[in-house]
Amino acid sequence: MKSTDIFCVLYNNWKRDDLVLFENDHAYSIFSVTPVTPGHAIVIAKEHFERLEELRGVALEGFIDAMPSTLAAIQRIYDEDPEKIVQFYQFLKKNPLTDSPLDSAKRMLQDRNLRIKPDCAYNIGINVGGYAGQSVNHLHAQLFPRREKGPGIVTAMERLFN
Ligand SMILES: [Zn+2]
Repeated sequence: MKSTDIFCVLYNNWKRDDLVLFENDHAYSIFSVTPVTPGHAIVIAKEHFERLEELRGVALEGFIDAMPSTLAAIQRIYDEDPEKIVQFYQFLKKNPLTDSPLDSAKRMLQDRNLRIKPDCAYNIGINVGGYAGQSVNHLHAQLFPRREKGPGIVTAMERLFN
C-alpha cells in the first residue's frame, strides 16, 4: 500500500487500535465511517488497486472471500462484543474523518439485535469510477447486512434515477 488515500494511509492505525474486522492476505474490512444501516462495513483491497477489473487470481479471490468472512465477524461483534463498535467511532472522534462520529455510533447501535443469520441476507455495492460515485480511488466494497425484508439494489438505483 503506497498511495496517500485514507484506505492506504489509515490501515496501520486501524490495525494498531484493533479496529480491523477481518483481514486476509488481500483484503481487510472496517466499519463504515458513515454507516447507512447497523452493521454497515467496508471491505478494502490491501494492495492499492483503484478498480475491480485490476484484480486477478488470488487478489480477486481474497477480496471476494473477505465479504462473507466480514459478515461473520460483524455478527460475532454484535453478539459478543458491541463495545468494539463504540471503540471504532471513538477512534473517529480522535481522528475525525466525519463530522458526526457519535451519530454514526448511535446509528450502528440503534438495533443491537443484529441477526444476519439464519438468512444471511446482505447487499454488496462497489462503486467503480467517479461517474458511479467512487469517492476514494482505492477499491472497496460496501457491505450492508439486512435483517428485514426490503428493497434490493435495483430498487434502490431505480429510486435514485426515477
Ligand atoms: Zn490506496
